[in-house]
Amino acid sequence: MRNRIGVAVLLFGAVCVISFSAAGAPQAKRPRDPQVIDAQGYEKLVQQHHGKPLLVTLWATWCEPCRDEYPMLNELAKEYGPKGLRVVGVNYDDEGDLILMRRFIARYKPVFPNYRKQHGSEAEFTQAISAGWNGALPASFFYDKDGKQVGHVLGAGTRETYEAAIRQLLSGSGHSTFSLTTASGQVALIDPWVMTNPMCPDKLKNVPKLDVIFLSHAHADHLGDLLALAKQHKPQIVAIFETSLWIESKGFEEETKPMGKGGTQRVGEFEVTMTHAFHSNSIDDDGQRIYGGEPAGLVIRMPGGFTVYHAGDTALFSDMKLIGELYKPDVALLPIGDHFTMGPREAAHAIRFLSVKHVVPMHYATFPVLMGRPEHLRQEAKDIAGLEIHALRPGQSAQRVHAGGCG
Ligand SMILES: [Zn+2]
Ligand SMILES: [Zn+2]
Repeated sequence: MRNRIGVAVLLFGAVCVISFSAAGAPQAKRPRDPQVIDAQGYEKLVQQHHGKPLLVTLWATWCEPCRDEYPMLNELAKEYGPKGLRVVGVNYDDEGDLILMRRFIARYKPVFPNYRKQHGSEAEFTQAISAGWNGALPASFFYDKDGKQVGHVLGAGTRETYEAAIRQLLSGSGHSTFSLTTASGQVALIDPWVMTNPMCPDKLKNVPKLDVIFLSHAHADHLGDLLALAKQHKPQIVAIFETSLWIESKGFEEETKPMGKGGTQRVGEFEVTMTHAFHSNSIDDDGQRIYGGEPAGLVIRMPGGFTVYHAGDTALFSDMKLIGELYKPDVALLPIGDHFTMGPREAAHAIRFLSVKHVVPMHYATFPVLMGRPEHLRQEAKDIAGLEIHALRPGQSAQRVHAGGCG
């Protein structure tokens, strides 16, 4: 019976790109002005980078946040160019400001190529880049190696924001955010880093419906946009007791569904059991560090029995064997990034403990220290018969991640 349940497990991923002017070798003494491009030229530009992740940044010398951002983007281009990222700049200065533009380029010596938007035809050019963008600078757009736009940073972005996006673009990681949809249409988000994740696809950033949030712990990369989403949708919010108290203190007394480890409760159409996770937990409340209770894992049963185990951030622990025996997850979402959580070697052993056949790796690549990758997990787990590892890209769905034989 469980096999008929329609389940969508979505990974909100990020994608990033870094660019580097491959051809760009050190420029000669008299650099030529950037080539002028129109809307078609822009599209050609993106096509030319097919096969490589691409970051396009749109800038002008009259735009102060652009001037602030540009040197940082140049640093990122230097760092991530050798790792496959391509970066391209498109300048929006008018003819009258060409001297300023030349000076700016001479001063910051970008390692990536720059182009200049043709004067006029604003609407057409803006449309060619993104229908959902109002044309305001600064703005940067990310394209995957197939030339598909997969993310953006609108307005000034911090280095952290760009770097997380780039690392997600290069690796295809979506960190730890997942969406579950029941057959009747109830929607849950686990660890909801959505709107402020530059690599989360727009169609998923616009969360039209949200019934439940499940939170493994309150570190910023998991708490994510919980408060904003709570305000928007008033979903029920499942978190450990102390973190729930903090969420309540932000005005969501009605929404919280606090719980403790070992317990099970029904929330909407979902049934959730909170499990161990060996990690830490605290809340950054506007610069103040607050105790958040213990970190947790979550076993979530969908109507009909399809069972998802989200391990949260955790070390390997042998009680995962009990989780496997008791709850028999159909799919396990396991951190593999290493450093702050288990890495691929430990995750492979977790799979043995859980006896699970479908695994979605998570929590890797987003930050430089998260070195574990799905291919490492595949290598470590290659002796496990019948195992399928689904490395989902942001926005990808593992809709057919069902236990054997479901249709
Ligand atoms: Zn954490
Ligand atoms: Zn984390």
